[in-house]
Amino acid sequence: MSDSEAFIGSCKTQIGFEPTIDRVLEPASETSTRSGGTPLHRIVLGSHDGKKIVPRWDIVTHSDRKLLYFIHERTFPDTATLHRAESAFHAAAAAWNDVDFGLVFEEVREASAAHFHLLYKEMGKDARHLATGFFPNEPSDLTIYKAGLSTSRSDGAIKKTFMHELGHIIGLRHEHAVARGESESVRFLGTNEFSIMSYRDERDLQKSDKEEVKAFYKMQNGALIGGIPIQDYPLVLRGSKSQKADA
Ligand SMILES: [Zn+2]
Repeated sequence: MSDSEAFIGSCKTQIGFEPTIDRVLEPASETSTRSGGTPLHRIVLGSHDGKKIVPRWDIVTHSDRKLLYFIHERTFPDTATLHRAESAFHAAAAAWNDVDFGLVFEEVREASAAHFHLLYKEMGKDARHLATGFFPNEPSDLTIYKAGLSTSRSDGAIKKTFMHELGHIIGLRHEHAVARGESESVRFLGTNEFSIMSYRDERDLQKSDKEEVKAFYKMQNGALIGGIPIQDYPLVLRGSKSQKADA
């Protein structure tokens, strides 16, 4: 199954977008190189093929600079699973917050006061996926699937899954997106095949990920990356609008 098929089958909100799904990891040989050994791209930023933009959060007019999340506890099957997810998610958010790129993730206790929710989903076509996120131009929720919280996965691996999805939420694409032609996406600065945005087992939040996200968020709204303009999106409280992630 291709990423696109997997994506369309599991999340109707982002048809036409490069998938944000964090899949069950493939063997490294599958993902390490493409196109005859072309190195994978370090950080990759996205655009919708109809719009030709690189979406990003507006941290200029939103001086609060907080992306607020709510953990939807009652979607989790039991307390142990919830605590496992919560602890990994808090660690992942803290790791991105330490980057100090201009936006921080902060938990809120009221569902309507959040920009996005963290949800758990059990089954269906998503059974082989770990998690799904979203991009700044298409706010939604972050879903962790049963496989993502499997007892066979370490706490560190779960934290990396959340760091990867939070990477999408701040605007990053898969770091193999350009090489695989997953959708219109552009390379920004260098390459690092072990980026948190890769599917490698060894992936982690790299120094290059941190430096380049900082550089990305320092650019002017409208500035061009690979000929495609950055477009800033306002942070809108999720409120009671329809729960797209449940679709
Ligand atoms: Zn992904």
